[in-house]
Amino acid sequence: MASKAHKLKQTKYIFITGGVLSSLGKGIASASIGLLLKQRGYKTTIMKLDPYINVDPGTMNPFQHGEVYVTDDGAETDLDLGHYERFLGESLNKTNNTTTGQVYYEVIRKERRGLYLGKTVQVIPHITDEIKKRILTHEGQFDFVICEIGGTVGDIESLPFLEAIRQFTLERGVQNALNILLTYVPYIKSSGELKTKPTQHSFKTLMEYGIQPDILICRTETKLSKEERSKIALFCNVSEEAVIDGLDVENTIYEVPLLYEKSSMTELILKKLRMPLNHLNLKTWSNFVHRIKHPKNEVTVGLIGKYTKYRDSYKSIIEAFIHAGSINNTRVNVELKNSEDITGENVAEVLQGLDGILVGPGFGSRGIEGKIASIKYVRENKIPFFGICLGLQCAVIEFARNVCNLTDANSYEFDKITKNTVIDLMEEQKKIKNKGGTMRLGAYPCILINSTKAHDAYKQDSISERHRHRYEVNNNFRELLQQNGMIMSGLSPDQKLVEIIELKNHPWFLGTQFHPELKSRAVTGQPLFISFIKSVLKRKKSRNSRNNGNKKEQITVIN
Ligand code: GLN
Repeated sequence: MASKAHKLKQTKYIFITGGVLSSLGKGIASASIGLLLKQRGYKTTIMKLDPYINVDPGTMNPFQHGEVYVTDDGAETDLDLGHYERFLGESLNKTNNTTTGQVYYEVIRKERRGLYLGKTVQVIPHITDEIKKRILTHEGQFDFVICEIGGTVGDIESLPFLEAIRQFTLERGVQNALNILLTYVPYIKSSGELKTKPTQHSFKTLMEYGIQPDILICRTETKLSKEERSKIALFCNVSEEAVIDGLDVENTIYEVPLLYEKSSMTELILKKLRMPLNHLNLKTWSNFVHRIKHPKNEVTVGLIGKYTKYRDSYKSIIEAFIHAGSINNTRVNVELKNSEDITGENVAEVLQGLDGILVGPGFGSRGIEGKIASIKYVRENKIPFFGICLGLQCAVIEFARNVCNLTDANSYEFDKITKNTVIDLMEEQKKIKNKGGTMRLGAYPCILINSTKAHDAYKQDSISERHRHRYEVNNNFRELLQQNGMIMSGLSPDQKLVEIIELKNHPWFLGTQFHPELKSRAVTGQPLFISFIKSVLKRKKSRNSRNNGNKKEQITVIN
């Protein structure tokens, strides 16, 4: 018992709140601090505490909330968990994301079971106790637990969370719990100065809740001057060195940790939490950032979907392209194309200039025909194609219609009448009534077939990738699809589910039923994305050299 207790770590907690307005990048700030502590040799994890009442974001529209990020254990979580995983290079799980909905659900469940008998159940202490219990989930297993509190200081909804971290900081002591406020210092063009007043107000609000921030990260367009820094320090009751520049980064969010270190962020944290400084190793990370900022090549990929007005709906895919680009020394420009605007007639025009296309995940029938028209075009014109989840399903429908001559082929999701449902509801899904948390979710193993693009990319016989869908390739059509040249290059271990499809006689045409983007990490990337970008680049280079060749010929003729 004693030896087990000896192994437990004395966990330190860092709470990150946001002031003034949303979208300041608390997720990136939390992920960056996590990376820096990890690179100083500390075992670190990050949690997101979300103040909304949904149990999870799974039932929210991407326009409301951006992408839903799925963990290995099948939790549908906030997209900030994607940042945490990409920066930390580690897999998190359902305990890393808590919502008000989950907290109340649990407290009400306990109340019904009679566990509070005799008591009035209240926000303080019952809700706050449940929040504190969740913050403690990783106690003893990590040196640092970073907790990002969603929303903005002053929101009614985040009050119980702020009260919980106030109590927590008091109970643990300031050497064990640290508070960071990420705030905004706007630049006012007309007067040509940075304004500190909104930050002072956010600080005041936080103090009203009993929380004194130890560090302020100030998001600014330009560096804080000496005077501005000392003014913020004075009004917010912190030392000047605790006012950190959160300058806008020009090129890439992956530069944020490097920027923080210029302001000695981790030294400050470690001193306040009485931890040894340890050596900081950022070499690999700096090289990764350098490759992103100074690529040798450039390609443009079209991302075809229907949530194109809000780039956060495809956050992990866009990030996976950055990672794969850095490995291929290539800047990947991602152009979002709304599939509702694409038809068989205009497809060549809309896709003109794209070096490859990715058809993304999605739900519902809107925009499906535009996706199918795009896939037909890139299949016939040998343009690299990557289909993810719904993207694979559309590729199968297109192939069944145009190659196997099943003209009414469709998915049961979009057409309840056709007999040729090449994509159909899984057996277990047919009984499901509730929408929340009931899809095929989380990591599942997949066996790769030798001598396929998938196998070449992963260089492994067996992989594990994350899922979020209800429909699958209908096995009744598998043989027909294969006879016509579709390769099922990844299958579930019992061979019952098709996980990856690809085509022969095409430079790169591959679809996955899972979401490979969810496991793409900074520095290392994801094998399929890396392979796809490699083929996109190859095509672009060969076309360029062909065009140059043609130009030379023309010049010769003119001469
Ligand atoms: N709507 C499809 C399904 O549920 C695809 C889902 C997705 O793209 N994630 O199977």
